[in-house]
Amino acid sequence: MIEVEHLSKVYNGRKAVDDISFKVEKGEILGFLGPNGAGKTTTMRILTCFMPATEGTARVAGYDVFEESLEVRKRIGYLPENPPLYPEMSVESYLDFVAKIKGAKSNRKAQVGEVVEKCGLGDARSRIIGRLSKGYKQRVGLAQALLNNPEVLILDEPTIGLDPNQIHEVRSLIKGLAYSHTVILSTHILPEVSMTCSRVVIINKGKVVAMNTPEGLADQMKGTERISLTVDGPPDEICEKIKSIDGVLSVQKEEGKSGGPHTFIVESKLNSDLRPALATVVASAGWKLLDLRGVSMSLEDVFINLTTNEQE
Ligand code: ADP
Repeated sequence: MIEVEHLSKVYNGRKAVDDISFKVEKGEILGFLGPNGAGKTTTMRILTCFMPATEGTARVAGYDVFEESLEVRKRIGYLPENPPLYPEMSVESYLDFVAKIKGAKSNRKAQVGEVVEKCGLGDARSRIIGRLSKGYKQRVGLAQALLNNPEVLILDEPTIGLDPNQIHEVRSLIKGLAYSHTVILSTHILPEVSMTCSRVVIINKGKVVAMNTPEGLADQMKGTERISLTVDGPPDEICEKIKSIDGVLSVQKEEGKSGGPHTFIVESKLNSDLRPALATVVASAGWKLLDLRGVSMSLEDVFINLTTNEQE
């Protein structure tokens, strides 16, 4: 549904987007994840025909965003970071106005009713936009993007500035759009992608640094298995014994503890489960094994790994 190939954007000699390529399949929710300044908004503005790219191509539903922008605009609903709401209008009259601009004809009232319903704006339909809470304003922004039932939705940081309850509501709303719409959602917040997206593109300094499912990304980056074990016994001896087990790559003892049980993080090759061997070694030495479990690398570890400079 969306195909981006070798897209670049240069502002005043500086590359904000640098040769990025990715695809979004029909009905998918793609998370566009990256720190502030990574180039997310720039890419979204190009996809929504707000500005041209410097190089590369982008197609939406088979139409080129530069050469067939009218066709593309018809098929896209866009929620910018700051939606262009008219603060003096009521929710319903604003949505009716947007529906008119988007070319809705006889069924305008029904369409407005539908998005009001979908976005939970029923009790706010006659309220003045300027007096609504940030959460409700965001729902109005989403409602205007949904008018005319676009195949593709581009949502720029849709939950920014909302409180936890509002975030939960907006995320559920977006999740419910999968299958009937193709969605790209930008965010700099990690849990957002694991909660709402089927696939993630991580972008940093204008470049794509990873592309996978949220779970696949964690696996892909992992490279090693990690096991945490807590043992009551002499720490240096325990370390030596663990190191002698075949397949162990490294052992780290938890810092800053003198007496009592110690926790160790044992790293081994991927797809090797050393838990039985560890348990045997500890038991045969007569030490007490208090805890033994695999520790996975979180998406957060992966993200930090991918987007942090060595010098930082
Ligand atoms: P993100 O949405 O990931 O925070 P942006 O796409 O807004 O990133 O910005 C990417 C880079 O391009 C940043 O360094 C930003 O300062 C720069 N930039 C964005 N818009 C403009 C503009 N209109 N003129 C010049 N530089 C810009």
